Amino acid sequence: MKTDDTSTRDEPATVLVVEDEPRLVRLIETLLASTGHHVVVARDGQTAVEQAALEQPDLIILDLLLPGAIDGFEVCRRVREFSTVPIIMLTARAQEQDKLRGFSLGADDYVTKPFSARELLARVSAILRRSRGADESTGLIEIGDLIINQATYRVTVGDSEINLTPTEYRLLFTLAQHAGQVVPHRSLLSQVWGPEYSDEIEYLRTYIRYLRRKIEPDPERPRFILNRAGIGYFLSDGS
Ligand code: CA
Repeated sequence: MKTDDTSTRDEPATVLVVEDEPRLVRLIETLLASTGHHVVVARDGQTAVEQAALEQPDLIILDLLLPGAIDGFEVCRRVREFSTVPIIMLTARAQEQDKLRGFSLGADDYVTKPFSARELLARVSAILRRSRGADESTGLIEIGDLIINQATYRVTVGDSEINLTPTEYRLLFTLAQHAGQVVPHRSLLSQVWGPEYSDEIEYLRTYIRYLRRKIEPDPERPRFILNRAGIGYFLSDGS
């Protein structure tokens, strides 16, 4: 695997790598270190959850198949109880069910094994850029009784506080920036996930479903996130 064709360097980040296969751990460690990142390794689920709390990593790369009682899905679920750190899942095959289950537990992206150095580094880079770009603005966005506090990342609908994963938040925030206008599918994908994701319509559909479940009083009859079939989505004030 060649690592010398990666021209862009990210700001150094702490990355928690959760993987039990020694060869793969060494490979990922070498790759990330070569781009200036600090790597912490956990070889089982229990250690992974502890390290996530202790090290406060900027990113977690999480293998779904782990030895012991706690698998990758469970790690994801437990980490989400206390952290919004971005999580990239490693899946053995492109299994749709695994991906969707991971997303529903709060994972942000996935990489299918076997992956190339370039692919993994591109994903890492994209996700770090996204999570860092997210803290620039402050202030409140109010759309009907939906309120997004950009300083604290708190989202409320009426009196209820809504718990969103980082990706769900970015999607809602992007729609809110263009409230009342249709944002085309490709534009949403590119703003929320990055330009290299502009064809991943399945990501978008999945996350729209999660968001609706969380913010819509009746997800079957959405009043905030509305669909324009074949074009995109828009955020309405719910009236
Ligand atoms: Ca494994």
